[in-house]
Amino acid sequence: MNVKLIGFLPNPEKMPAMAAKLTHSKIKPEDLDKSSDKELKAILEHVMNQGHTSVIEHTCFTFAISDVSRSLTHQLVRHRIASYAQQSQRYVDFKEPNYVIPPKIAKNKQMKEAYEKTMNTIWEQYNKLLEMGIPAQDSRFVLPNAACTNVIVTMNARSLLNFFELRCCMHAQWEIRQLANKMLKEVTKVAPIIFKNAGPMCKSKGICPENKEDCPLYPK
Ligand SMILES: Cc1cc2nc3c(=O)[nH]c(=O)nc-3n(C[C@H](O)[C@H](O)[C@H](O)COP(=O)(O)OP(=O)(O)OC[C@H]3O[C@@H](n4cnc5c(N)ncnc54)[C@H](O)[C@@H]3O)c2cc1C
Repeated sequence: MNVKLIGFLPNPEKMPAMAAKLTHSKIKPEDLDKSSDKELKAILEHVMNQGHTSVIEHTCFTFAISDVSRSLTHQLVRHRIASYAQQSQRYVDFKEPNYVIPPKIAKNKQMKEAYEKTMNTIWEQYNKLLEMGIPAQDSRFVLPNAACTNVIVTMNARSLLNFFELRCCMHAQWEIRQLANKMLKEVTKVAPIIFKNAGPMCKSKGICPENKEDCPLYPK
C-alpha cells in the first residue's frame, strides 16, 4: 500500500481559522487574512477544543492511494463526504495477476501457496474470457476482492476526523485501518492543530463505542 498526500492549501489551517474568526468579528471576510498567525492559531485551537468543527470543512486534503484491494476501496467509498477517482476495470488492462495478500495468509506458507494458486486460476479464467471476446467490463466479474486498485481521494478535515474515528479503531478491518493510520500521519504533519486529537474514538473522545476492554487502545 502506498499513501501520499498530494494536495492541500498552502497554509491548510489558515482558512478554518479565518472562518472561525469571522463568526465572532466585525471584520469583513476579505480582510481576515490580515490577522496575525499567532491570533489565528489561538482561535483555531479554541474552536477545536470546543468541538466547533464546521469551520474545518474549509480545508481539504487529497491523497494518492495505490496497491490497495478492491475490498478496501469498497469500504472507503462508503464515506460519502468525500470525492473519489478510481482506476477503471473497464478501461485498464488487468491481464497480469495483481492482488493483495492478507498478512494472516502471507505468514502461513501452505495457506499462501493455496491463495496464490486460487489467484492464478482466477486470472487464467479472466484472460480466457477476454480472449473469447468477452468485454473487460464483463470479464472482470470473475476478479477477486483482493485485486489491486488505485484511487485519488479528497476529503475535508471534518470528514477526515470522522473517517479516522471509524477506521483507525482496532475494530476496523486491518487494511483500511492501515490506510487510515497512514493518512492520519500525513495530515498531522501539515495541520497539527486540527488533527491533534484525531484518531479512533478512544483517542478523540476518550470513549470506546465497542466497549472492548481487551483492546490495547481501550481508555485507561
Ligand atoms: C467497523 C465498521 C464496520 C462496518 N460494517 C458495516 C456493515 O457491516 N455493513 C454496512 O453496510 N456498512 C458497514 N460499515 C460502514 C458504515 O456503516 C458507514 O457507512 C461508513 O463507516 C461511513 O461512515 P459515515 O456515514 O459516518 O461517513 P460519511 O458518509 O462520510 O458521512 C459522514 C457523516 O455525515 C452525516 N451524513 C452523511 N450522509 C448522511 C445522510 N444521508 N443523512 C444523514 N446524515 C448523513 C453523518 O453524520 C455521517 O456520520 C462499517 C463501518 C465500520 C467502521
